[in-house]
Amino acid sequence: MTTTTRTERTVLDDARDQLAEAVKILGLPADVHAMLAEPRRELSVSIPLRRDDGSIEVLRGYRVQHNYSRGPGKGGVRFDDAVDLDEVRALAMWMTWKCALLDVPYGGAKGGVRIDPRRYSIAELERVTRRYTSEIAPIIGPEIDIPAPDIGTDERTMAWMMDTYSVGRGHTVLGVVTGKPIALGGSQGRAAATSRGVVAVSLEVLHHLGIRPEGATAAVQGFGKVGRGAARFLAEEGLRVVAVSDVDGAISHPDGLDLPALEAYVDETGSVVGFPGSSPISGEEVLAAEVDLLVPAAVEGVIHAGNAEAVRARVIVEGANGPLSADADRILGERGVLVVPDILANAGGVVVSYFEWVQANQSYWWTEAEVNEKLVDRMTHAWRDVLVYATERHLSLRLAATCMAVERVWRAHEVRGLYP
Ligand code: NAD
Repeated sequence: MTTTTRTERTVLDDARDQLAEAVKILGLPADVHAMLAEPRRELSVSIPLRRDDGSIEVLRGYRVQHNYSRGPGKGGVRFDDAVDLDEVRALAMWMTWKCALLDVPYGGAKGGVRIDPRRYSIAELERVTRRYTSEIAPIIGPEIDIPAPDIGTDERTMAWMMDTYSVGRGHTVLGVVTGKPIALGGSQGRAAATSRGVVAVSLEVLHHLGIRPEGATAAVQGFGKVGRGAARFLAEEGLRVVAVSDVDGAISHPDGLDLPALEAYVDETGSVVGFPGSSPISGEEVLAAEVDLLVPAAVEGVIHAGNAEAVRARVIVEGANGPLSADADRILGERGVLVVPDILANAGGVVVSYFEWVQANQSYWWTEAEVNEKLVDRMTHAWRDVLVYATERHLSLRLAATCMAVERVWRAHEVRGLYP
């Protein structure tokens, strides 16, 4: 670990508090909070894995469907050794708000397996994925709940999930997961969609603050599916990406890192550490970098009461889900640092997942240019709507985004009515 994480409260506490605050601001009855705070459906499964050496290890996996009033559940599957039920519950709740905010016709869900994928072979990961998929198969499906990649999973994982589910059904079901390889009904532009969305919003924020992208500086925490693409697209827009980190360490270069060369280096070595020409720094120094824009794109809770005062960025765009604790959010808000919340900033992935699902259901494929144009259009509109809502009501961007989303979900509940 290159950064500290907070211990004081769980992400689920923060997610529930954000909901409570939104419910209060919207003037909704207290029982609305009770209904929306509780996941609608949860499944905890045991995953016996036969290791390559013949021994058997039993892992734990989860799928939580927080809310499906507006449509099928939607959310990633995480393979990480920090996965637990409360984390999955919080992430599922944020997915509900994210889908509502971007107005994609889904509810929120999330899944995960408690496993450090770096310690297992490809064959073992395939066996884990297939067993996990068959265990959660009763509650997933194109009209029920549609998983996607998240930390520690990728398009290959989605191909295994889709294949396992399809074998169980006796026919190919492309729409059961998104984030699939292009050869298997994946969408053009899906792999880079979250990063592209992060950058589309970042450019809007910089413009809003009167900062020109050319020559502006950025730091990115995490160099995985989200962070790596975000760093690349920011550099392509003329920003100097001066510091990046991954789980193994962090590097900096005052003139801006050469992103194409860094990506080639990471493909070869598996880490940013030791990139020729860069200086080694600590993970905390990335978060405290003197930059215009900070993009935390790794894990939850990395900016907390203990290090929020050290942050020097003018803007934080949350590439990760929940990278700021509630305390950090308050401290940074008081200091005038503009924070673009996860449910807006990293929604590009679910937007293009929605496009992928639409294409799969229609068997009609769009070009990458079409996908990217529609994505940027949705992201910039959502940013502008949130900005107007926040400005008119004197709310933080996070609270504004949460209020807008909660109101949409509640409207769906209201018109559907309570059964029985
Ligand atoms: P990933 O597994 O591809 O990459 C995670 C990266 O973070 C890796 O580079 C890892 O080394 C690094 N990392 C982990 N712990 C770290 C630490 N303490 N300090 C620095 N770096 C650390 O995962 P991802 O898909 O890029 O997801 C990253 C975040 O973005 C997660 O919060 C995820 O929920 C969120 N997210 C992902 C998507 C998506 O489409 N993949 C969509 C929306 C949100």
